[in-house]
Amino acid sequence: MRDFDYSELQAQLAKKPTIVITTHRGPDGDAMGSSLALYQVLLAQNYAVKVIVPNSYPNFLHWLPSNEAVLEYEGNEVEANEILAQADVLFCLDFNDLRRTDMMCSSLEASTAVKVMIDHHQEPKDFADFTFSVPSVCSTCQLVFEFIELMGWSNYLSVDVAKCIYTGMVTDTGSFRFSSVDKRTHEIAAKLIDLGLDHAKVHQTLFDTNKESRLKLLGYCLSEKLEVLPEYHTAIMSLTREELERFSFQKGDTEGFVNYALSIEGVVFTAFFVKHEDLVKISFRSINQFRANLLSKEHFGGGGHVNAAGGAFEGSMEDAIAKFKKILPNFKEELLANC
Ligand code: 5GP
Ligand code: MN
Repeated sequence: MRDFDYSELQAQLAKKPTIVITTHRGPDGDAMGSSLALYQVLLAQNYAVKVIVPNSYPNFLHWLPSNEAVLEYEGNEVEANEILAQADVLFCLDFNDLRRTDMMCSSLEASTAVKVMIDHHQEPKDFADFTFSVPSVCSTCQLVFEFIELMGWSNYLSVDVAKCIYTGMVTDTGSFRFSSVDKRTHEIAAKLIDLGLDHAKVHQTLFDTNKESRLKLLGYCLSEKLEVLPEYHTAIMSLTREELERFSFQKGDTEGFVNYALSIEGVVFTAFFVKHEDLVKISFRSINQFRANLLSKEHFGGGGHVNAAGGAFEGSMEDAIAKFKKILPNFKEELLANC
């Protein structure tokens, strides 16, 4: 992997290439915030730039400035593949392994574009020509802000760019409370406020626009589906398709549920199982040094950060939970050490 060579990237961009920005499957606040922030900064410099995301993303992110410019790959494969085939430069944001783009993966692998990765997950794969990877940083949005400054593009920051960057920083840090938040995170937040950002409004728009059905789903999940395993300082929750449908589930409705279980006194590790059409998606969260990403990688084909990871299980909900309970004793020592 080569070091990030800004002057070389600047030389590539001086040729006024056609640019595509992309992110991981199931885009979250950081994925969309970083993609749309960079999109706007490149557009302000008159680059021909598009944002293509693998599939749809939650409604609570659709207010983001320039949202209308986003093309979803799933359902628009022909158009998206044509655009991808013509791209000279491809920015890969908030992921470090092309497999995280799922249905877009083969098109990205086939692309001859110069690839630029900006990401904060551990163990980046070596697919990009330029890799800006800092796993200790809280969000890709924070890195995109750094990138914009390092490229000398600060003049192109705007209040709309600030909204996008702030969204990723807020959503990836549980509103600035995870240990990944550092002094620089707050310095950048201050700079965004200097740009005219109404930070309270962003929080409101992200978190205080609940539908009644979502709150009832949360209430049901907590009162009926929460199971604490005291011996392992672990709590689990799960939702089947039937349960989701009973509460008129929409994409994004279960976002953040996993954190409630982690707020129980004495709980170090939580797993939240949600049945999708073909598989069970699992969100893992932990505190201290318990390696949620290691457990996910070893047993559920996933990964992520130490304290926030995800994975999947092909099979029924019962089998997914049974597997989880079976492997938990292997981690008992590490769980106890992190109480
Ligand atoms: P979430 O639980 O919010 O879906 O994901 C938490 C973290 O785990 C995110 O940082 C995400 O990048 C990572 N993650 C989620 N699902 C997967 C997965 O299937 N594979 C990998 N490698 N990481 C995942
Ligand atoms: Mn992120």
